[in-house]
Amino acid sequence: MAQPTTTHLDTQLQHAGTAPFDPVQGAAPVALPSMRTSTVRFQNLDALDKAQADKAKGERSVTYGRVGMDTHAALEEVFCKLEGGERAFLASSGLGAITLALFSVLNSGDHVIVADCAYGPVRYLDKTVLGRMNIQVSYSRAAVADLADQLRPNTRVLYVESPGSLLFEMLDMPALAKFAREHNLILVTDNTWGSGYVYRPLDLGADISVVAGTKYVGGHSDLMLGAVVAKDPGLIRQLNDTHYAMGYSISADDAWLAIRGVRTLPLRMRQTAEHAMEICRFLASRAEVARIYHPAWPDDPGHAIWQRDCTGSNGMLSVELKLDNAAARRFVDSLTLFGIGFSWGGFESLVQLVDHASLRSHGYWPANDHAIVRLHIGLESPQDLIADMTQALEQAAGA
Ligand SMILES: *Cc1c(COP(=O)(O)O)cnc(C)c1O
Repeated sequence: MAQPTTTHLDTQLQHAGTAPFDPVQGAAPVALPSMRTSTVRFQNLDALDKAQADKAKGERSVTYGRVGMDTHAALEEVFCKLEGGERAFLASSGLGAITLALFSVLNSGDHVIVADCAYGPVRYLDKTVLGRMNIQVSYSRAAVADLADQLRPNTRVLYVESPGSLLFEMLDMPALAKFAREHNLILVTDNTWGSGYVYRPLDLGADISVVAGTKYVGGHSDLMLGAVVAKDPGLIRQLNDTHYAMGYSISADDAWLAIRGVRTLPLRMRQTAEHAMEICRFLASRAEVARIYHPAWPDDPGHAIWQRDCTGSNGMLSVELKLDNAAARRFVDSLTLFGIGFSWGGFESLVQLVDHASLRSHGYWPANDHAIVRLHIGLESPQDLIADMTQALEQAAGA
């Protein structure tokens, strides 16, 4: 049986990372098992020498368990297919993938510009670790007009996220890539939102894409995972060296779960995106709603860029409610089908009341006193979710 040749991602995701046939029996399991191992044994010293020589060339070659064997390699292949990359490196969380990307390309004395809409814990990394390593960070709206003012002679990296955290601000990735090229910066982007399935920043000129596989790739709220994907051989070399030197490692069972999850990524993302649009239509009909933040929604200011650069959407949205803090708290507490919690990309609906302190640094936020509620719309019936939100809005109003 020859390998299938197709450029359609839905097909690739069903065939990437399957087990090879046993050469004697000519048979293979359909699903690749979890290959747990802490170390590797070799048939003879020549085989070990070859593995070490391949590793020295920067190729994926296993001499020890830390980087993982077949299950890990299969998941790396899946991330390469998703992101359109040449190599993928796994980390034990999305935040771990962010640190891998940054530590691979930053040196002491460098300056990095971070998009003000990036995932909040990046600021904590800056405050606790990057500063101590003499890496300077400045935060900026991630639009070319704003970025030019931030450049310093030692600026080396532009770190962005599109759409941004909390308010899903769509960035103009091709324009950012052009700016990065002109100023010799490495463009690193967090692509957790798109997860490679509905948005491919490497195709739009980004150099490194970081994905929290914890969210849509895993998809079942039961594992932590990160991946860093790149195309450029020089960057791949730096990532490979840093990944190895820093001891980034994930369990084979988590890799196996992620592969299991990714088979249904197309279905889950399409379905949650459809549900999110139904929720948007409901929200747009409500007097309490001042604004919807969801790039697939036609009134979103990022809609044109989303139409140009994305092939789909997902279940994430934020809503600005004309409610004071106490009423917004009643709304959230009255929801019965939405779990109050961080994270997203699983099967279930989640809600988070976004505090204004964490929005203050986002230039995209209109900085009014309306409540911002972030929702992950899951796979429940949208009619049930709408009924739940309707009763919660009534509770919020009538105290
Ligand atoms: C959740 C998230 C991360 C971090 O992923 P973890 O696996 O929770 O560490 C990074 N970026 C974005 C945009 C996220 O939503």
